Amino acid sequence: MQRDITAAEALALVLAETPVLGSETVALGDVLGRVLAEPVLSTRVLPPADNSAMDGYAVRAADCAGASERAPVWLPVAFEVPAGAAEVPRLECGSAARILTGAPLPAGSDSVVRQEDALRSGHRVAIRVEPEKGEHVRRAGEDVERGERVLEAGVRLGAAQIGMLASLGRSIVAVHQRARVAILSGGDELVEPDGDIAGGRIVSSNSWSIAAQCRELGAEPVYLGIARDAPEDIERRLRAGLAADVIVSSAGVSVGDRDFVRDVLEKLGCRLHFWGVKMKPGYPLAFGRVGADGRGPLVFGLPGNPVSAMMTFEQFVRPALLRRRGARRLHRPLVSVRVAEALHKKPGRLHFVRVTLSREGDAIIAQSTGNQSSGVLKSMIRAQGILIFEADASELAVGATATVQVLDGDFLASDTPGF
Ligand code: AMP
Ligand code: MG
Repeated sequence: MQRDITAAEALALVLAETPVLGSETVALGDVLGRVLAEPVLSTRVLPPADNSAMDGYAVRAADCAGASERAPVWLPVAFEVPAGAAEVPRLECGSAARILTGAPLPAGSDSVVRQEDALRSGHRVAIRVEPEKGEHVRRAGEDVERGERVLEAGVRLGAAQIGMLASLGRSIVAVHQRARVAILSGGDELVEPDGDIAGGRIVSSNSWSIAAQCRELGAEPVYLGIARDAPEDIERRLRAGLAADVIVSSAGVSVGDRDFVRDVLEKLGCRLHFWGVKMKPGYPLAFGRVGADGRGPLVFGLPGNPVSAMMTFEQFVRPALLRRRGARRLHRPLVSVRVAEALHKKPGRLHFVRVTLSREGDAIIAQSTGNQSSGVLKSMIRAQGILIFEADASELAVGATATVQVLDGDFLASDTPGF
């Protein structure tokens, strides 16, 4: 087991142990937010045939040469083509067909004159503009050609991708499995939110924030409850989590007399890869894997303090869960910011400073969310980003440049639509 390693070393060890999950087929209605497990090649042509982009008249452009409002060209209306028409007659030279949006273009015609540019009179129509060949026609295959690779494996499915899959006739889709994450909290002082807080007890908020962090990533939390500070209870509950893909336990991994989690993990066959990461908050992070064959769940022993638990999840569990579900990009967007107030620390550990973000012209300004103590969950509530205060640095002066992981792009939201 490695001790006292850097955040970058820890992340590399985590990702080296994190294989991508297999795939499953899921109904199209349930794939929002899931990650495609295989590329999608089209077996269709979209649109399937040349069709009209407008309500109007299908014509041969050459028949309407020189047409204008003053000197319209009169054509007989030979037939009508509604959307969805199965059989469409051929358009003979010197005639027009009434056509509706989305209807297939009759053979023999090559353009559509908008209804607004035509004047119907009985069986004839006056064409009042000179159409260009191909005008108001949507070409077969202009969206998707047969055999085209429309979506790549690893793409996260959103509304547009799901609409495309529907167009391609894919009612079921191969996506990566969702990770099941067993969540254990531990401590004699902890109760559930509706529990009795007399005598200095506190609510196990970590159970809730960690489950929510899992759900945000499309993983399925499985709650193992609150373990008492007793090895037997911790073991009993952790055993129930051995069937999960990932175990996330919080608290009890430090060096206190009642920190039994690491010992119990080792007893259950978990090989610990590291303990102690030179970061703040979150130093006492442990990571390992159950099972000698490397097939058992990944195990994260997060520190108990609410901010430390969320931060270590954010920096290590999150990328692992993203990797696990097949995503190609594992990290938050990074922006370069100007520091609004001076920050100081002792060199040695990387600090993850919770900040609010605002725009000032082209610059992004980062301001600390206040008390950065690892028990002050309020510092996370307001956080729009996490500022990276490098391990060996001791000061960031006002106006200094730093890198921020963006948690919430809302600071880019605008009061105006931009059009
Ligand atoms: P420990 O790692 O057990 O020493 O816990 C460190 C600090 O985190 C203590 O103040 C605990 O009360 C607190 N803590 C531990 N687990 C939780 C939890 N599930 N929710 C909120 N606070 C916790
Ligand atoms: Mg404890």
